[in-house]
Amino acid sequence: MAIIIDGKLIAAQVKEEIAAEVLKMKEQGLRAPALAVVMVGNEGASATYVASKVKSCQQVGFESIDLHFPEDISEETLLQTIQDLNNNPGVDGFIVQLPLPSHINEDKVIAAVNPDKDVDGFHPSNVGKMALNIPAFVSATPAGIMELIARYKIETDGKEIVVLGRSNIVGTPISILLSRKAYPGNGTVTLCHSRTKNLKEVCSRADILIVAIGKPEFVTADMVKPGATVIDVGIHRIPSTETKSGFRIIGDVQFESVSQVAGYITPVPGGVGLMTIVSLLQNTLKAAKEKRKEGPTA
Ligand code: NAP
Repeated sequence: MAIIIDGKLIAAQVKEEIAAEVLKMKEQGLRAPALAVVMVGNEGASATYVASKVKSCQQVGFESIDLHFPEDISEETLLQTIQDLNNNPGVDGFIVQLPLPSHINEDKVIAAVNPDKDVDGFHPSNVGKMALNIPAFVSATPAGIMELIARYKIETDGKEIVVLGRSNIVGTPISILLSRKAYPGNGTVTLCHSRTKNLKEVCSRADILIVAIGKPEFVTADMVKPGATVIDVGIHRIPSTETKSGFRIIGDVQFESVSQVAGYITPVPGGVGLMTIVSLLQNTLKAAKEKRKEGPTA
């Protein structure tokens, strides 16, 4: 039976560390870090994520600013809001919750965010720096995965690492991070997608298998090398008669069977998901510290 990589435990530890730093800043007479979250429309999953981001900010002593706009906000008004946040000295970092309604160009919105306040790490400038191993904001989910690997001291040097899924927010950045000359890193990384041939064989070569494919319980035990580390990024809400809420959360990995062969595994829920928010807090703390270096008025 695999060792469970406990995202809940690590997330709580990191939050405690952040809260201690915030307390220190306040004791020095500095303003607490401030994170703004921009949300457009009322999409259920996004609203849940935004609520937990705001709650996490409060838990670590950050100031949180919640900006909620109707679904029909114009692109121009949204871009103006972003400019206002870029220019607001009281905001250290901000994110625009995705996805956005189809009449708004997401790429334009991402590019409008000041890279120094881009705590989601989505701006092309941050993505480029990350690829070149220059200090940058790394997007939250891959950063959370890196933190889990580091805190569990999973060996990555020279390991066969297979990433399933090549999205801009998870698969592609984690494949770059794990192939960089660093720890975690120095892996031999294969990035798989819908055109990959012999997926099962490729996956079963992996010492570390990172799954962000967006398909419920896609990865089964026969795709996993015995003893491998399996990181499940997927989040799916499926109907259930066994829970009060009427649904339960599952991942991209069939946990029951895969946990029998893997060496380490992240559960869903309780794995990567909780680390995503924590990484956002870490990025905001970093943004606030950088800003404080600019001078006493920052
Ligand atoms: P995504 O945009 O849903 O893309 C899925 C990727 O998987 C694509 O690269 C696609 O290939 C590939 N793919 C789909 N079907 C495939 C197949 N049958 N064989 C091989 N590859 C296949 O990815 P995402 O946004 O990274 O999301 C993935 C999952 O992670 C979702 O369940 C999402 O909810 C979850 N997620 C969780 C967090 C968190 O905080 N835990 C954060 C973000 C996302 P192509 O590129 O060829 O289409």
